[in-house]
Amino acid sequence: MTRVYNFAPGPAMIPEEVLEQARDELLDWRGTGMSVMEISHRGKDFKNIVDESERDLRDLLHIPDNYQILFLQGGARLQFAMVPMNLLNGATSAAYVDTGFWSQYAIEEAKQYGDVKIAATSKATNYTSIPDRQTWNLPKDAAYLYYADNETINGVEFSYIPETELTLVNDMSSNFLSRPFDVSRFGLVFACAQKNVGPAGLTVVIIRDDLLRTVPVLNTPAILRYAVHAKEHSLWNTPPTFAWYMAGLTFKWLKAKGGLEAMAKINQRKAEKLYQFIDHSVFYKNPVEPRYRSRMNVPFNLVDEKLVGPFLQEAEKNGLTNLKGHRLAGGARASIYNAMPEAGVDALIAFMKAFEKRYG
Ligand SMILES: *Cc1c(COP(=O)(O)O)cnc(C)c1O
Repeated sequence: MTRVYNFAPGPAMIPEEVLEQARDELLDWRGTGMSVMEISHRGKDFKNIVDESERDLRDLLHIPDNYQILFLQGGARLQFAMVPMNLLNGATSAAYVDTGFWSQYAIEEAKQYGDVKIAATSKATNYTSIPDRQTWNLPKDAAYLYYADNETINGVEFSYIPETELTLVNDMSSNFLSRPFDVSRFGLVFACAQKNVGPAGLTVVIIRDDLLRTVPVLNTPAILRYAVHAKEHSLWNTPPTFAWYMAGLTFKWLKAKGGLEAMAKINQRKAEKLYQFIDHSVFYKNPVEPRYRSRMNVPFNLVDEKLVGPFLQEAEKNGLTNLKGHRLAGGARASIYNAMPEAGVDALIAFMKAFEKRYG
C-alpha cells in the first residue's frame, strides 16, 4: 500500500495514526461487538465519545466554562445562515470583513436576514492582504462583527485577533486547531471538520453562553437554533456519529503530539519553507502580502502558466496529489493542514525544484 501526499483543501488528509486506530477498531469498538457506526447515539458507549471529545477539545483550546461546544451538521455554509438567524437578535445590522471568497459567501447569505455593513474589504489588493484594523468602519449598533480567519482559496490568514467592542464571530474552518488562540475574545467560532478535524459531515461551533439567549429571526426552525442544540448537548437529532468519533481521535492525536503550541511550530516551519522556496524562485510565484500569508493553504502559480497542466500531471505521478488551484483562482495550491507531514512539504519542494530544472 502506498499513501500519497494529498494536498487537497478539503476533505483533506487525516493523520495516519487516526486512520489506523479507526481501522483496528472498525468491526468491534471497545468490546461492544459493534462498529462505532452501529451504536446508539443515546447509549452510554457513545456518551463516552461525547464526553471525551468535548473534554479533549476544551483542554486543547483552554475553552472557558462559559462557552458551549456544539457538534453540528450542515458544514460551514450552514453557519453562514445560522449566525445571522440566531445572533442578529433584533438588531438590523451586522458588520462583516470582506477578505476573499469565503467571507463573501457568508456576506451574501447574511443579507437575507439583515443589513450587512462591510466594515472593511481587501478588494483593492485583489484579496492578497488584510485591511489594516485602523481603517475598519464599525457601526456601533451592529449585532456582531464577522470575519474569516483563514481564506482557504485566496491563501490569506489573519495574524491577529481584531480589537473590538462588538461580539466577534469567526469562521475558522481551514485553520482551526492549527495554533492556539484565545477563545474568550470571541462570541462564536465555527469550523467544518473536513479540513483540520476529521471527515466531512461535522461542524464544531464554540459559542459563549449569553449568545444562547438571543431571539432568533422569525420562523427559524428548531434545528437551526443554537440554544436547542446546546440544551440537548448536540444530541437533539442523530449526530454524524462516525465523524464525531473521528474528530475525537484527532483531538487525542493532537494532545499526543504536544497540543496546539507544538502544532503551531510545525505548521509555521512547513509553511515558511514552502514560501521561502517560492520567493527565491523565478519560476513560481505567490501574490499574498507576506505577513498575511496562510500557513494552511499556499496558492501559487507558475510564471509560465502554460506549464500548470504538466506540473499538476507530473506531481500526481510523483504521489503529490490534488495540487490544482481552486476553479475560481486557477494555478496551484498546496493545502498543508495539521495532518500533512513535514516530509510531504519537503517532497513537494523537491519536486518543484526538479520540475523547474527541467522546464525552467
Ligand atoms: C471549506 C470552507 C467553508 C465551507 O465549508 P462546507 O463545510 O463545505 O460548507 C467555509 N469557510 C471556509 C473558510 C472554508 O475553508
